[in-house]
Amino acid sequence: MFGIVVNKKAERFYDEGEDIWPKRYAIWGRLVAGQPDQIAYIVFDASSLKLFMPSLFPPITAGSIPELAQKLALDPAVLDKTVSDFNAAVRPGTFNHNDLDDCRTEGLTPPKSHWARKIEEAPFYAYPVRPGITFTYLGVRVNEESRMFMTEGQVSGNMFAAGEIMAGNVLGRGYAAGIGMTIGCVSGRLAGRGAANNARN
Ligand SMILES: Cc1cc2nc3c(=O)[nH]c(=O)nc-3n(C[C@H](O)[C@H](O)[C@H](O)COP(=O)(O)OP(=O)(O)OC[C@H]3O[C@@H](n4cnc5c(N)ncnc54)[C@H](O)[C@@H]3O)c2cc1C
Repeated sequence: MFGIVVNKKAERFYDEGEDIWPKRYAIWGRLVAGQPDQIAYIVFDASSLKLFMPSLFPPITAGSIPELAQKLALDPAVLDKTVSDFNAAVRPGTFNHNDLDDCRTEGLTPPKSHWARKIEEAPFYAYPVRPGITFTYLGVRVNEESRMFMTEGQVSGNMFAAGEIMAGNVLGRGYAAGIGMTIGCVSGRLAGRGAANNARN
């Protein structure tokens, strides 16, 4: 993630550069849900604006960090200090947003482990973010044919499950971007084939 993420108190709360986004974007929902009023703000500067997929909504824009804080209804002095502390902790490195680069902070809690660059080039931007429900994740247990297990442990004669309702069988824990549709396609084919065979026999 580019820039930093702060909560309503204008304070950072997690390493924004822990890993590449497909392996980390799902955990941010829970992280933001744990913050006051379940809201957070991604704060970045002009140097990062063109580095990520454009959002449908334009970011909130300001000429300075205190002005940005005012637009976000955050404490300007605290946000200014959070950004200054972050900038002071950024160590020199070779920025590479396609890899786990060596741009990191030192002596900062929480650290930013990769893609840490000073937030100093106006205009400054922010996106307010909130958690949302993307899928159900856990539901029923299935076998390799996507046939459902019943409560007593026996497989069902005629019930199959596909998609999110059985995704926990594949994932167990965590989530990687794109895996929802992959699970849906593969288990849908298995379950569809099983159900069709069952109807024929
Ligand atoms: C904002 C968002 C972004 C996403 N982005 C991605 C992505 O980039 N890549 C990716 O791989 N996945 C993504 N996903 C996840 C992906 O959309 C889901 O994994 C996928 O849609 C699940 O398909 P499904 O058929 O299992 O369930 P669903 O699409 O949830 O279908 C379940 C259906 O059952 C219906 N239903 C529920 N209860 C009943 C009932 N009692 N009776 C009758 N019908 C009922 C519902 O109305 C719904 O139509 C995203 C999800 C969201 C919300």
